[in-house]
Amino acid sequence: MRVAGAGFCHTDVMPREGSGPDGPIVLGHEGAGVVEAVGPGVTSVVVGDHVVLTVDSCGTCARCDHGEPAYCERVRERNFAGFRADGSTPMTDAAGAPVAARWFGQSSFASHAIATERNAVPVDPDLPLPLLGPLGCSMQTGAGASSSSWTCGPGRASSCSGPARWGWPR
Ligand SMILES: [Zn+2]
Ligand SMILES: [Zn+2]
Repeated sequence: MRVAGAGFCHTDVMPREGSGPDGPIVLGHEGAGVVEAVGPGVTSVVVGDHVVLTVDSCGTCARCDHGEPAYCERVRERNFAGFRADGSTPMTDAAGAPVAARWFGQSSFASHAIATERNAVPVDPDLPLPLLGPLGCSMQTGAGASSSSWTCGPGRASSCSGPARWGWPR
């Protein structure tokens, strides 16, 4: 995906605080952009699609089967490791050493990001793509908190104050 814009929240600070892989890493976990190529077997996105990248998930565990991919049983290895599940990475430095480039299955603080079919969500191409990145984490976290934890359903109003480092776009 060619990155058009990316949001930022506390998750992108976590490796500096010790919650991430050792060594160099490309961060970014709220990417939005245009699909430039797809791998074999990909059916839900095509070249030219506008997509928002979100949390990666396995698609085969009980949580994924239950429609809760954000709580995937493999969430740590697929999102916080910085590498693919098999330990590989799509990026190296100039000397050929591996660089972690799968932060949240995307590493979208770059010109291009490689995601999975599961964490690339097509969006309406008429929407302002550079602004949509926060939908992939901050906005859905805030919306999920409102609709689930606060049981604020459709048609009901809520109010928030004191935006936190998690759950709201910058
Ligand atoms: Zn899963
Ligand atoms: Zn986030």
